[in-house]
Amino acid sequence: MDKVNILGIKVSKHTIDSAADQIIEYITNGDKRRCVFTPNSEIIMMAYRDKKFAEVLNSADILTADGIGVVYASKMLRNPILERAAGFDTACAVLKKMAPLGKSVYLFGAKPGVAEAAGEEMLRRFPGIKIAGCADGYFDEEKQVNIIADINEKKPDLLFVCLGAPKQEKWISEHRDELDFGVAMGIGGSLDVFAGTVKRAPEFYQKHGIEWLYRLLKQPSRIGRMMDLPKFGFTVLLNGKKFPQE
Ligand code: UDP
Repeated sequence: MDKVNILGIKVSKHTIDSAADQIIEYITNGDKRRCVFTPNSEIIMMAYRDKKFAEVLNSADILTADGIGVVYASKMLRNPILERAAGFDTACAVLKKMAPLGKSVYLFGAKPGVAEAAGEEMLRRFPGIKIAGCADGYFDEEKQVNIIADINEKKPDLLFVCLGAPKQEKWISEHRDELDFGVAMGIGGSLDVFAGTVKRAPEFYQKHGIEWLYRLLKQPSRIGRMMDLPKFGFTVLLNGKKFPQE
């Protein structure tokens, strides 16, 4: 089984490295409009309550497990995912493998100026990579038309969409068919992390699966969203078995 069905969401059992390999394969094959989302437990809970959003998530080619909650859930369902494949880590692994191939990435999302700063950091860390273009994530209808036209002119191999969840997943799903790209990844606050405007949790928190605690301490306003974490655990415990594993 290469997937685990968590409350109706079919999460791939990819590790960071195998997900990156699969994405590189899509790119080198010249595939178009492949999608990668990285759901955590909050996002799976959102999809559990919203059937349409669940369809959006399941329309992706790869859903990686972003969060220790998702990894635990897979173990509870006796269909274990080996490791957490967070969006930022998977993105770094893809960029590393893409760089020697001279492939291009388009950076869309975050506040004005952040995508450009993130691009500079990527060029420094992954020499050989091509930055196809940048656009911030605060747009109206008119600006959106220009962003879509720009992406279609640049035809990036990889498209990072960083608008936060569920906005980025819905945006990709809505515009997928009118966009020319190889693989799109919805990776939340990753451009902020590349640009250095938001710090990732220290390794201690990451290693012990408590990155969520660090984020909560830094942004106490996330408490509402985070209450979904225990709810997620209970829901998987009570209802998880109702969803068939393939
Ligand atoms: N963002 C955006 N446009 C919006 C709302 C949010 O570009 O309309 C960006 C925001 O600036 C940030 C990212 O989306 O860079 C969301 O980050 P967060 O860490 O909240 O995402 P998560 O992965 O937790 O959903």
